[in-house]
Amino acid sequence: MDESRKKKCREALKDKKRIVVKIGSSSLQHPETGDLDYTKLDVLVRELCDMRNRGKDVVLVTSGAIAVGKKALPVSNVEYRADSPIAVKQACAAVGQARLMMTYQKIFAEYNQVAAQILMTKNTIVDNLNRYNAHNTFSELFRLGVISIVNENDTVATYEIEFGDNDSLSAIVAALVEADLLILLSDIDGLYTDDPRKNAEAKFIDVVEELTEELMDMGKPSTGSEVGTGGMNTKLIAAKIATHSNIDMVIANSRDIKVLHRILDGQNIGTLFLGKEKVYFDLPEFVENM
Ligand code: GLU
Repeated sequence: MDESRKKKCREALKDKKRIVVKIGSSSLQHPETGDLDYTKLDVLVRELCDMRNRGKDVVLVTSGAIAVGKKALPVSNVEYRADSPIAVKQACAAVGQARLMMTYQKIFAEYNQVAAQILMTKNTIVDNLNRYNAHNTFSELFRLGVISIVNENDTVATYEIEFGDNDSLSAIVAALVEADLLILLSDIDGLYTDDPRKNAEAKFIDVVEELTEELMDMGKPSTGSEVGTGGMNTKLIAAKIATHSNIDMVIANSRDIKVLHRILDGQNIGTLFLGKEKVYFDLPEFVENM
């Protein structure tokens, strides 16, 4: 794509009205201790409140429930392994989600912003009545000027009904609420042609117009491509859900959370995936088969 068209696509982000922002646990924690990074949380909340002040509808999809709960409970790292009984994770999530929300509520209140919590499982999308109700709830919260804070309902989600990762969840939420833009804040700058830590020739991709099979495959660890590390696979699945729902998506580095307003100012930050207008995409069917 030529530079002037790229510029136009970036400029178009200024007019986005309904925005979903996703942040992952690793972006919210101090790497040394695993405790919450309050400075980052504060900047994140300030940026979101400022989006509201610009007249945008805002949804935050945030991870961190399990990480925060794990710190609050006497659960050792040995006890909490990837294959630990799901009940341990669920207990961590039950404690952590409440703590996480308490922290968010406090900071949002400092900026006079009302925040709400919405916890979802696959059933929220697959079941027609649940989906209809969730859609209505979001609509009413937008009307009332509330920022919705979304997470997976990890306390009750077992294998059959879990989304499993918040990248996909955020794109599903964006599709459900008919957002214009999804921003994934992550620990990577965006999409490269290969792992930049291992391949000096790796090139940064600033705009993706077409999510080709070749690109989708780049995220899969099984292909041997290192782009898969750092969760590029789930981010590309999110890109598929978002762009097929005609929603633009940006992956940007959460190192500096102030990129949020710069993205909305049309600056060339991260990788922009362009939404597609006329593609058949059945959200409930997709979620059911995930
Ligand atoms: N829902 C999980 C949590 O809040 C995180 C899932 C993810 O980060 O993808 O701990």
